[in-house]
Amino acid sequence: MKNKLRKTYDVVIVGAGIQGLALAYNLARCGMPAVVVLDKSHVGSGASSRNGEMIRSAFASEEWIRFFSKSIEIWETLADELDFNVMFTRCGYLVLASTVDELEACLTHVKLQKTFGLQTRLLNADEVVTLIPAINPMMVSGGILQPNGGFARHDAALWAYARAASRLNVEICPFTEVTDIVVRSGAVRAVKTSLGEIETDTIVNAAGGHAGRIAEMVGLNLPSQTYRLEMIATEPLKPFLPLALSSPHTLSYMHQSTRGEFVGGAEVKSLAPSKSLRSSLEATRDMAGKFIRLFPGLSNVRLMRQWAGIVDMAPDVSPVLGPVEEVDGFILDCGWVYGFMGAPAAGKLLADYISTGEIPLEIRPFGFERFRTGKLIRDSSLAVPSENL
Ligand SMILES: Cc1cc2nc3c(=O)[nH]c(=O)nc-3n(C[C@H](O)[C@H](O)[C@H](O)COP(=O)(O)OP(=O)(O)OC[C@H]3O[C@@H](n4cnc5c(N)ncnc54)[C@H](O)[C@@H]3O)c2cc1C
Repeated sequence: MKNKLRKTYDVVIVGAGIQGLALAYNLARCGMPAVVVLDKSHVGSGASSRNGEMIRSAFASEEWIRFFSKSIEIWETLADELDFNVMFTRCGYLVLASTVDELEACLTHVKLQKTFGLQTRLLNADEVVTLIPAINPMMVSGGILQPNGGFARHDAALWAYARAASRLNVEICPFTEVTDIVVRSGAVRAVKTSLGEIETDTIVNAAGGHAGRIAEMVGLNLPSQTYRLEMIATEPLKPFLPLALSSPHTLSYMHQSTRGEFVGGAEVKSLAPSKSLRSSLEATRDMAGKFIRLFPGLSNVRLMRQWAGIVDMAPDVSPVLGPVEEVDGFILDCGWVYGFMGAPAAGKLLADYISTGEIPLEIRPFGFERFRTGKLIRDSSLAVPSENL
């Protein structure tokens, strides 16, 4: 970790979350000599160390399936690649259907997933209950099982990327806030920070819930908003949830940690924009109600922790990736709501773009221009309120 900056860098990345660090590591691997990652706080202080850690590629849209398949492929060998145990537990991921309509949609999604080579399977209600005997059968119509999905440890993944990037001479500067960006003749020229000014012609906006503010510095108006998401962890319990599970019906997602804690998050309907990191009683009630409905056995269990994190959510809830026409050298790596599972692919593909100038196929649909062309990407298998889709 550095606290003294050079005068010039090839690439300046704003934000030392999983996105910024994965990109920095991949840029260094591509041979980019001078890369710096700046964070106004400590490394991983944003959503990257506050998330549900869940990983899948079993989505409902071509764009999401193609992109997240690339990511899961990297997750599978990431520990070896980074020489650090990221604790990727491939226990399987179930997208639960709670109504007949939801099950019908699952059938369509599985058909599409198969065309991309995913090994997903449609389960009926009995199969789900056999797999998870603790689940409330009244909440089960069936679901999609992705056997190679699961969850990883967010702290481990962050440190794995940070260490691997440092080994390749990436400079990581915590407690260094980006305060302004200098643009001249339509191109990025320099970045102003709390430690002084740096010259660069390439800046990546990986500032998570603060991405809108960074974009404003170059005069760009992101259509996204910042939202607070909340999670809870219970006291450790005997194993009862053998896989990662998301329930779009209740807008919730959960897994049981290796320590036995039930860890889950949920979103309330009509989520209002917020940058607050305070936990709310409204969310406690909402999560407790939903989780007990899904798993009645949780009703007498003690809540150990609750926390919040903020994410940058685009109008279609899809990430916003790549260059912008308005300002040369200003690159977006934001709009992330599923940005933990997506980081390995985003880091690799954006690094390929920055080093070659070619936008890889997997990230092409996620460009900023879609807000102009109207080609929004709506994936209907997400656990987010329909108002946000
Ligand atoms: C409760 C919750 C549950 C989630 N569950 C999942 C899940 O199960 N699976 C999944 O894939 N995703 C999940 N997510 C989403 C995921 O956590 C995010 O999409 C991902 O962490 C985004 O990473 P990031 O690096 O872009 O942003 P962040 O981790 O937020 O990092 C942004 C960084 O930018 C820094 N920064 C901001 N402004 C400045 C500035 N001016 N100067 C310098 N630095 C700055 C911040 O300090 C921060 O460290 C969840 C999120 C939350 C909150």
